[in-house]
Amino acid sequence: MKHSNKSLLVLNPGGEQIMRAVSFRDKTVFLVDKPRPEVAADQVLLQPLMAGVCNTDVELFMGYYQFEGTPGHEFVSLVEKAPGDPQLVGKRVVCEINCGCGQCSWCKTGNQHHCPTRKVIGIKDWDGAFAEYVKAPLANVHLVDEAISDEAAVFVEPLAAALKISQQIHINSASRIAILGDGKLGLLIALALRHYNPGILLVGKHRQKLNLAVEQGVSTFHIESPDLLPDLGKILGSFDIVIEATGKEDGIDHGLNLVKPGGAIVLKTTSHSPSVIQLSRVVVGEISVVGSRCGDFGLALAFLQNKWVNVLPLIEAVYELDDFRKAFDHARQPGAKKILVRF
Ligand SMILES: [Zn+2]
Ligand SMILES: [Zn+2]
Repeated sequence: MKHSNKSLLVLNPGGEQIMRAVSFRDKTVFLVDKPRPEVAADQVLLQPLMAGVCNTDVELFMGYYQFEGTPGHEFVSLVEKAPGDPQLVGKRVVCEINCGCGQCSWCKTGNQHHCPTRKVIGIKDWDGAFAEYVKAPLANVHLVDEAISDEAAVFVEPLAAALKISQQIHINSASRIAILGDGKLGLLIALALRHYNPGILLVGKHRQKLNLAVEQGVSTFHIESPDLLPDLGKILGSFDIVIEATGKEDGIDHGLNLVKPGGAIVLKTTSHSPSVIQLSRVVVGEISVVGSRCGDFGLALAFLQNKWVNVLPLIEAVYELDDFRKAFDHARQPGAKKILVRF
């Protein structure tokens, strides 16, 4: 695959290098000119090729993490500068988003996503990829094989998050597993975990989205009316494992209706409003509750390189950076699939 490495740099009168970037402030999207990031010896400067709009970006826009600045955490880039590893320059990479302190017990055991003082690219205290340039720790970068297109590579971060479940909870072919929620993450979880459990059932409200999963061999159940939600357990029976990916604060409550006594519920929803559940249901049913967030980029890259998951049908539209406002409005429409931004 060929990429033009055209320079987008402009010098302002003070000699500072300026770039174009998206900025969120006061629930407004701005397109601004700002200084290009400077990189330290253990960092890389990346030139994004394509980035995806995530529901987390919408939550940030609404005030999650009191975020202000440049969002964007699902992206594929060319390496522009890599003082610590010059051979990386010009290579195509994806980038893990958690930037730990490097010193604490979590960082030292490979769990920098739990570092109490971590920064997170495009989410917390670190400018993200909806910009002509973004910096990242050198250690966070993974090379992308030529077999993976830019469009597919944008999905590495959410696909890694989907696959994390396979590393947290024992899944075998005999487990009865349901995924609740047919949004972008629910679909990715279904497409990825069907390789661990061919009978996995995706439960959702959008027939068109469920059909995307059916096309890749996933069994589905369509909730035709919200009135059915309290009766799902009676209709579908109970499950050893329920994966809650509804994005809604009441998702866990509906999920608990489906878990067998002694079973597990995996939670993927990060909503800024709190969930209210009757905890005695967890106690009496002896249910394991597992929170699940970021995953293994190497595993996600292997899934894409081997074409075990086809993420391309999950793309709704591709916009240019200058049209970011349109892209973001489109991404916020109910039921929209993945919106990508091209640079
Ligand atoms: Zn995301
Ligand atoms: Zn740390």
